[in-house]
Amino acid sequence: MTDERPNLVKVYGRTGTPQCYAVRDFLYSNDVPLEWVEVRTDEEARAIGLDSVTDPRLPVCVFPDGTRVERPTIQRLSEKLGWFHDPSRTEYDVAIYGAGPAGLSAAVYGASEGLKTVVIERWAIGGQAASSPKIENYLGFPGGISGVDLADRARDQATKFGAEIVIAREGVRGEFTAGRRVGYLADGSKVVARAAVVATGIDYHRLNLPNEDRFSGAGIYYGAGASEAALCTAHPVVVVGGGNSGAQATLHFSRTSPRVTLVVRGDTLKSSISAYLVERIHAATNVDVLTNNEVTALEGDAMLDAVIVRNRLTGECRRIETHWLFVCIGGAPRTEWAVEAKVTRDEAGYLVTGPDLMNGGQPSEAWPLDRPPYHLETSVPGLFAAGDVRHGSVKRCASAVGEGAMAITFVHRYLADG
Ligand SMILES: Cc1cc2nc3c(=O)[nH]c(=O)nc-3n(C[C@H](O)[C@H](O)[C@H](O)COP(=O)(O)OP(=O)(O)OC[C@H]3O[C@@H](n4cnc5c(N)ncnc54)[C@H](O)[C@@H]3O)c2cc1C
Repeated sequence: MTDERPNLVKVYGRTGTPQCYAVRDFLYSNDVPLEWVEVRTDEEARAIGLDSVTDPRLPVCVFPDGTRVERPTIQRLSEKLGWFHDPSRTEYDVAIYGAGPAGLSAAVYGASEGLKTVVIERWAIGGQAASSPKIENYLGFPGGISGVDLADRARDQATKFGAEIVIAREGVRGEFTAGRRVGYLADGSKVVARAAVVATGIDYHRLNLPNEDRFSGAGIYYGAGASEAALCTAHPVVVVGGGNSGAQATLHFSRTSPRVTLVVRGDTLKSSISAYLVERIHAATNVDVLTNNEVTALEGDAMLDAVIVRNRLTGECRRIETHWLFVCIGGAPRTEWAVEAKVTRDEAGYLVTGPDLMNGGQPSEAWPLDRPPYHLETSVPGLFAAGDVRHGSVKRCASAVGEGAMAITFVHRYLADG
């Protein structure tokens, strides 16, 4: 039976190759319907015009209009989907970096309150939230909502109010002079705005194991892997991480995979995972929980074949065969650009804002104005931070959304100050 969905992109490729994973993850996170066609043999490869199953032209994407693109870059995919465009204005009232919950919320409030608003996103709409199979604690969705669905609704809402969303572009440098926030993008272009909101969240921590890079996208995946569940139906899955995201991933895969092993460094799940998730994990009959354990080695050739897990109390090691390891051990912000731009960060790289810039009731030396910084304002006036990237933030969707909205209130005040 053929799939009749009108926007469907057909992707031919091989599981366990980073390029194919990147395409799947990008399309899934952006809520583009995709049909994955595994190419297993040379014959199957030849049937789509390739030489063999190892042909470097994989993955091959066939778009709804029938056009075919071999080994597409993310920019090329965005172009084909009609999303890749330059910012249309030479200057905006507010530029928002990051289209996770904080950035999308800032976009909705900015655009709906009449600000000329642009959002710059380096990957896909939705940020970390888009990798969550089901968000159950977000107000107004008692049955839960998938992160991709939430992000898609937010994108519609923001664009309905006139926000521009520019994806597949990364902000890499900032120059902040009186009244102008200039963001330089990785492709050499720039975005000029009167105020800016940094909502770039955090990047996943890695395990820091010797051959980890080699397996990234080829057996190791960061986050809850919402795009991958359909592919591991016949395989055992290992999840690392004792937080809510690890718990969500475990439950997600337990519905489709024969066996899921959750590896946690702590001695109990209760201290770091919400009670409702702990209950469901204990009730799942195909889930093994290994507390006081950590992954110490990765084995495999072209693709991950097994992980070594060590008991931290006894030193005992066990080998678990798997091609699917999902790493959900939190993350850290990537704010290296802030050093050159003289934006105050804390030791871990989070952007310091508002009251945290004050010492004993007085603004720190980094703050240049007579007035104290607004609540979400960084040490550069008119540059705000919202969501997970901010020092002291609560790592939750609702908080990120709240801060995105709040940042826009302060943008108005800053712009009114002249
Ligand atoms: C698997 C998982 C499940 C979760 N489940 C829940 C849950 O059930 N409930 C809950 O409340 N919270 C949950 N969270 C936490 C929640 O998703 C985050 O707290 C929230 O997404 C933070 O939003 P944010 O906008 O601050 O950052 P992010 O979501 O991290 O978004 C940041 C965005 O900025 C982009 N970006 C980064 N750098 C740049 C740059 N230089 N230029 C342009 N763009 C850039 C990124 O690509 C990303 O899209 C979960 C997190 C994960 C990983």
